[in-house]
Amino acid sequence: MLIFVRNRKPITLSNYKSDLKFALELDQNDALKSYRNQFHIPKDKRGNELIYMTGNSLGLQPKQTKSYVNQELDDWANLGVEGHTDAKNPWLTYHEFLTESMAKVVGAKPIEVVVMNTLTANLHFMMVSFYQPTKKRYKILIESDAFPSDKYAVESQLRHHGFDDQEGLILWKPRKGKELLNYQDLETILEEQGEEIALILIGGVNYYTGQFFDLKRITILGHKYGCKVGFDCAHGAGNVALNLHDCGADFAVWCTYKYLNSGPGSLGGCFVHERHAFKKDLNRFTGWWSHNKQTRFNMRGEFDQLSGAEGWQLSNPPILSMAAIKASLDMFHQVGTEKLIEKSKKLTDYFEFLLNELGEDTIRIITPKNSEERGCQLSIQVKNADKSLHHKLTESGVISDWREPDVIRCAPVPFYNSFEDVYRLVEKLKLILNE
Ligand SMILES: *Cc1c(COP(=O)(O)O)cnc(C)c1O
Repeated sequence: MLIFVRNRKPITLSNYKSDLKFALELDQNDALKSYRNQFHIPKDKRGNELIYMTGNSLGLQPKQTKSYVNQELDDWANLGVEGHTDAKNPWLTYHEFLTESMAKVVGAKPIEVVVMNTLTANLHFMMVSFYQPTKKRYKILIESDAFPSDKYAVESQLRHHGFDDQEGLILWKPRKGKELLNYQDLETILEEQGEEIALILIGGVNYYTGQFFDLKRITILGHKYGCKVGFDCAHGAGNVALNLHDCGADFAVWCTYKYLNSGPGSLGGCFVHERHAFKKDLNRFTGWWSHNKQTRFNMRGEFDQLSGAEGWQLSNPPILSMAAIKASLDMFHQVGTEKLIEKSKKLTDYFEFLLNELGEDTIRIITPKNSEERGCQLSIQVKNADKSLHHKLTESGVISDWREPDVIRCAPVPFYNSFEDVYRLVEKLKLILNE
């Protein structure tokens, strides 16, 4: 891994240094450094900026979000219902303002992407279309450490169709003593039970280990056995290059409040592959927003299915939430996902370097070492630690995430975290561990 700093010899992992000066130098030479100032960084009681490492849970607020939301509040105040057509950003077509940027962020075509509902709701709506079990093929395969909401969702789908939620659920498990999943084990499962599996649903980036899966490989494998393949990209969108169109998955869902910085509980994103865009007879739940836009307001007659991912919408959407998403996506559009990912790799490589200096007796990084198999998050197992460690870290001004029994998840986000943040975090961890 090479990091080029202007007018200097290239910095490689082997000549990383573990002092503050080096961190400040990396910040100096960071082409994206000015973006940190475009976010609100949370502060402690004395007004000092916190070291915020939980952008994987709730992304920070861009300073421009307020004006985007205010625009819609003003138009609503001044125009009432006429805002649907006369607002600066007419509400009737508001979701379309998000489509192109969102498609870029996840590597899809505009026809494949829509912003609507929330993540788990979208997951269910996708399963209405892409989980159509038969007596012979009805099982659902997920990763054993799937996010709880995904597990509950697929279990309830199994029950909804009259199947046993234990017998019908197949778990892709790590090998004994490991945390990461192995593709050979997935191949074995498919060789043995592929004909019985209706749907493979995998988290694009696992929320716990930070493992970024090879979406294309999983999709090709699943399709070979006739399974539908979908991904939950909650931890992938805005974090890694998902290339959803290219990977060929049938569908994907994600949220916008993690790496997409669009505010607590904001709307979700949904991808349906182009090959399904014009299948009007595909089973689905519909509402007036799934109806052909040209004749939607005739409010009469036969239902006319809208094509593309938009055709899965049900309701007219919440504009205030979409305004916050637009504020964020405009920033992603301005910077470009490639640039963000490039910085992200440097930031996390540097983080890994500093952690490794602590020594293997102290910590172990669960997340893959290969930067192509992870995003910005590192999941750190701390030997002999309990929750008091996390408490002390929080006291010292670090916002991180604790997972029982002994894992801290930290996600330095390229948009607003600095190399200095990473340096200071590891210093604080060191101090606490040496106590
Ligand atoms: C964050 C997250 C969710 C949350 O679902 P909501 O419906 O937005 O509450 C679901 N799945 C995964 C993998 C997540 O990371």
